Amino acid sequence: MKRLTQEQFTHLIESTSLKPRQTRDLKFLASTSHMSAEDWSNSEVLAIKDRTKQKGVLIVTIESGTYVLPYELTKLAPSSSTGRASSIICDLCMTWQSGTRAGSVVFPGVRTASTSVGYLCCADLECSRHVRTLTSASKISRAQVRENMNDESRIVRLHVRLQSIITSLQAQPVSNDHS
Ligand SMILES: [Zn+2]
Repeated sequence: MKRLTQEQFTHLIESTSLKPRQTRDLKFLASTSHMSAEDWSNSEVLAIKDRTKQKGVLIVTIESGTYVLPYELTKLAPSSSTGRASSIICDLCMTWQSGTRAGSVVFPGVRTASTSVGYLCCADLECSRHVRTLTSASKISRAQVRENMNDESRIVRLHVRLQSIITSLQAQPVSNDHS
């Protein structure tokens, strides 16, 4: 995706129908200040978190457009038998994550609150980096899930997964004309 300034991000948010309570506490700079130009261009999914880091909006840029999805993330609860959360495969990027790094994400209010669908996910929502094998979690995942697949194919698969989630949420693209 293209790099956004704080001002462009505010403009993007204003072009959505999100409620002020969903966007007021977003920490744009805290969420993005560590990103290089390369990080931006290598991101198809980017979480802008609020103070709690468990809520925010997910900016998704894929072939069909740019989408702004309010999300809520929960860490997986430990299982009562083992006392540990079980490992998962992220529904977005298909990265294997141990229980401590596993989460579940819902997108409330994209369609209607009552039909929110939950997806298993990387708790850090760094899926764009995991598919490019830029994280230690992605390297562990490669050992756990033996797939004969290069990063390029993982990126394509992430795009397909994101599109399918966008379609099932019936989310509409926002205008993203700040070039
Ligand atoms: Zn992921």
